[in-house]
Amino acid sequence: MSAQGSKRKWRAGVLGATGMVGQRIVKLLADHPWFELTAVAASERSSGKTYAEAARWHLEGPVPEVVRGLVVKDLEPTLDCDFVFSALDSSVAGPAEEQFARAGYPVVSNSKNHRMDSDVPLLIPEVNASHVNCIPMQQKNRKYDTGFIATNPNCSTAGLVLVLKPLADVFGLERLFVVTLQAVSGAGYPGVPSTDALGNVIPFISGEEEKMETEPQKLLGKWDGNRFIDAGLGISAHCNRVPVIDGHTECVSVRLKKTATIPEVREALRNFEVSEELASLPTAVKHPVVVLDEDDRPQPRKDANAGHGMAAVVGRVRECPLLDVKLTLLSHNLVRGAAGAALLNAELLASRGFLKSRQAAGEPAVEAVTR
Ligand code: NAP
Repeated sequence: MSAQGSKRKWRAGVLGATGMVGQRIVKLLADHPWFELTAVAASERSSGKTYAEAARWHLEGPVPEVVRGLVVKDLEPTLDCDFVFSALDSSVAGPAEEQFARAGYPVVSNSKNHRMDSDVPLLIPEVNASHVNCIPMQQKNRKYDTGFIATNPNCSTAGLVLVLKPLADVFGLERLFVVTLQAVSGAGYPGVPSTDALGNVIPFISGEEEKMETEPQKLLGKWDGNRFIDAGLGISAHCNRVPVIDGHTECVSVRLKKTATIPEVREALRNFEVSEELASLPTAVKHPVVVLDEDDRPQPRKDANAGHGMAAVVGRVRECPLLDVKLTLLSHNLVRGAAGAALLNAELLASRGFLKSRQAAGEPAVEAVTR
């Protein structure tokens, strides 16, 4: 842990704590080595109730003890915490996240609203950790003091880009075609009605194809010190909702810049390893891409939890008669694609010195970390 010498953990709040993603964040925070959950907020349907009363708990095991009795607050930026995760519905996330950032809170968001803003980092630490360097410019542009907004990508983009990264590094990428088979938990709760979802495939997810065609350009692009430069990839995405609970599957065909054999592609994926800095973050896995050789994998029921849900699992790597290489990948939409992604982003921001301790009422100010 890089928080050696720390006098206490960073105090985390969760906006949208009662939703599908919010509950995952709450669960991951319950025994986190660096962060302590001290505040939860949601809509007026929930505010004023204890978390145990307000949350319709979807996860295995009971509501964690640390959060059961916390009273759910509304979206006033006066929460007792050093920074907030946002798992708010996108209908309210935009202005609410700005309000918290303006009030001095770092906001680590899952929502789509600010992902493509020209001064907001869209982060997958294993892919583009250097994009955090845009934060001082965001603070200057928006006259934020200690606050800022950092985001993680859409759930299907997260797994895709993690797998594209080693291919981009080793061979270069030109264009790709992707078809998704997305789990129902990606639609929040109650999400897709069961009468629509069961025994069915719905070939439309509002806004999803646009996100998959734009977010990878920023993620695989560069921050040049003043602006983001897109990766300039050709991307065509088809997005489908399927009756799977958790785990988005994606069938991908890729045109590479350099010629590569199938064993070379497999090796590049298998060899993808994170830096020492990233490996030391509590939520990181050393090898975030897992390659399987069996013909019938990956499968959501068997593989979605690989690497505690933080790995993208790849199988069926083979030649593509139209482009160069095709493969199937799977990633956990609520972990790698949402809650785990946000935790990892917050850990990166903490280890790079972007999270400060805010003084709790009646308490002397202490630095949460000595680096
Ligand atoms: P969800 O289950 O519908 O939860 C939405 C949360 O937002 C709940 O806590 C809800 O509080 C709160 N909320 C709704 N309206 C509000 C209002 N007017 N004021 C304050 N709080 C309000 O949705 P989700 O699936 O967790 O998704 C949360 C965010 O993450 C969304 O922006 C989504 O696009 C994004 N995301 C989701 C996934 C995924 O796989 N599900 C992946 C990546 C990103 P109440 O319980 O009080 O209504």
